[in-house]
Amino acid sequence: MSLTTEHIAFDIEKIRKDFPILKRKINGYPLVYLDNAATSQTPQQVIDVIVDYYSNYNANIHRGVHSLSQEATEKYENARISLQKHFNAEKSYEIIFTSGTTHGINLIASGFTSLLQEGDEILVSALEHHSNIVPWQMLCEKTGAVLKVIPMNEEGTLIYSAFEEMVSDKTKIVFLNHVSNALGTINPIKDIIDKAHSHGAAVLIDGAQAAPHIKADVQALDVDFYVVSAHKMCGPTGVGMLYGKEEWLKKLPPYQGGGEMIATVSFEKTTYADLPHKFEAGTPNICGGIAFGAAVDYMNSIGFENIAAYEQELLEYATGKLLEIEGMKIYGTSKEKTAVISFNIEGLHPYDIGTLLDKMGIAVRTGHHCAQPIMDFYKIPGTVRASFSFYNTKEEVDRFVEGVKKAKMMLS
Ligand SMILES: *Cc1c(COP(=O)(O)O)cnc(C)c1O
Repeated sequence: MSLTTEHIAFDIEKIRKDFPILKRKINGYPLVYLDNAATSQTPQQVIDVIVDYYSNYNANIHRGVHSLSQEATEKYENARISLQKHFNAEKSYEIIFTSGTTHGINLIASGFTSLLQEGDEILVSALEHHSNIVPWQMLCEKTGAVLKVIPMNEEGTLIYSAFEEMVSDKTKIVFLNHVSNALGTINPIKDIIDKAHSHGAAVLIDGAQAAPHIKADVQALDVDFYVVSAHKMCGPTGVGMLYGKEEWLKKLPPYQGGGEMIATVSFEKTTYADLPHKFEAGTPNICGGIAFGAAVDYMNSIGFENIAAYEQELLEYATGKLLEIEGMKIYGTSKEKTAVISFNIEGLHPYDIGTLLDKMGIAVRTGHHCAQPIMDFYKIPGTVRASFSFYNTKEEVDRFVEGVKKAKMMLS
């Protein structure tokens, strides 16, 4: 296969064997899983870590004197270090375990309540997932700050010059995704971070959709906050990471009160624990955190350059084939994009296409993809979204394109 010969380091057949679910049949057909932007599949290496945890060292962490607790604590803290290395954080305690991207954003948005005043401005991009819109709207309601939206163009690219005009010394925080989940657009986050900093504003980057494809270096980016979910990068659901610069994490108040996040408690006064525990109240998803570390290690063993190059080839191949279909409209045509194709076929409802594809064993997403403002921009109710991962193949793209053609024939 040409893709494997071009990327000798990348053995697709071997990689596919790591994912047991890829052997499944759906409605009598071998599964073609193209809903990776919603959640990715889990390799055996990560499944083994989960089984090992519950089989051999399930215990609560940080508090126990007994051996199992110490073992679990060590593995959990090692996972934090895997994440620190992967994202190149300066300090391991700048890595906070969360339940996912949504939790990370809410933690920061809530923390800013005491830092904002009426008339302050906060900037969001037009390309956001609802989870990076709603918590900030709630923040504006509480503080009287004003939410301003950086517009996008027809290609699905942010209009940088508009951002340059909007950002000012009134801007307190700018938050946007690294990659759009609905369109795949890669945003120019480094330029945005530098420009925002020149006005003294903080920047939060929602990295949920970038993390499976791009290795972000938080120090090189000089970003203040970077949030991700494990389940989009080969890990389990219910766990994620918030990276925060030490100075910010020290300044922000705790998000939840409870066990683990305190230094001392009395009814008169409670003092908070040091980082990272200040933001990790209660018993965390211990197994999930350990498995998240294993997932990041697994992806690094394949290599992010290999992943990016291979996925770009799949993207180009699939885009070319889809555009041969009459009535095909692809949304999100930025030059800088990940392997996500959002599309509609003239006169057909995305839901009907998705349903027929499922009958052929092909999993795609249909709907607004938790990004209704983007759909409103294009004046459509939703799209069909195929999102690719490094374990997909050209043969699967062929089956998908044939499936779309068949669905079109059956529906027209
Ligand atoms: C998936 C996603 C989220 C939400 O992640 P959860 O794991 O559901 O918390 C936020 N932003 C983007 C860009 C996403 O793709």
